[in-house]
Amino acid sequence: MQVLLVEDEAIVARGLTDALRKSGLAVDLAKDGEDAWYLAGTGQYAAIILDLGLPRIDGMTVMKRLRSEGVTTPILILSARGSWAERVDGINAGADDYLPKPFQTEELLARVHGLIRRSSGMTAAKLSSDGLEIDPASATVTIKGVPVELTQMEYRLLYHLVSNAGKVVPAAVLAETLYSHHHERDTNAIEVLVGRLRRKVGKDYIATRRGFGYFFKGSEET
Ligand code: CA
Repeated sequence: MQVLLVEDEAIVARGLTDALRKSGLAVDLAKDGEDAWYLAGTGQYAAIILDLGLPRIDGMTVMKRLRSEGVTTPILILSARGSWAERVDGINAGADDYLPKPFQTEELLARVHGLIRRSSGMTAAKLSSDGLEIDPASATVTIKGVPVELTQMEYRLLYHLVSNAGKVVPAAVLAETLYSHHHERDTNAIEVLVGRLRRKVGKDYIATRRGFGYFFKGSEET
């Protein structure tokens, strides 16, 4: 069972990593919001422990992005901001639990294991269309049962197009969805990414509406 710990303070991160590992969990550490967003988007984690005050992208933004992308991994927020209003904001934005700092490590462990127990019965629904299937729980893609190896960006792009199947998604919207503030939001990069994805999944799945954007149409239509 693997969890993602997002914490920028090195001493806190080290202590929590040790404690989580001792409790039987494998731990990946992200030290800023951008890494957190990249790693969490793979959907491979049983839970995410997310600090709110983070460099590059703040924790609340990371969480909102993940939820808007369909990532359903349980999220426990860690924050020094313990006021009830912020707690409500956090829960409304998609957090499953909230632990104000400072906290006892034992309480964090109990809450993380509780989250994993509660969510282990629920698996994210698979998305499928015309023989192409996406399993968000494992971030894997198969076409007619055959696994397709995609990079993280290719996967995100495909996920976004399939979740909006039949609708034209503008390249600018894709650029904004796929690239963080620190990258150039360049629609040419999206064109290149779409090209790579088409080579891997077959060109018929993704159509271009020139001047408008891209859409997922499935392989059966022409
Ligand atoms: Ca912090």
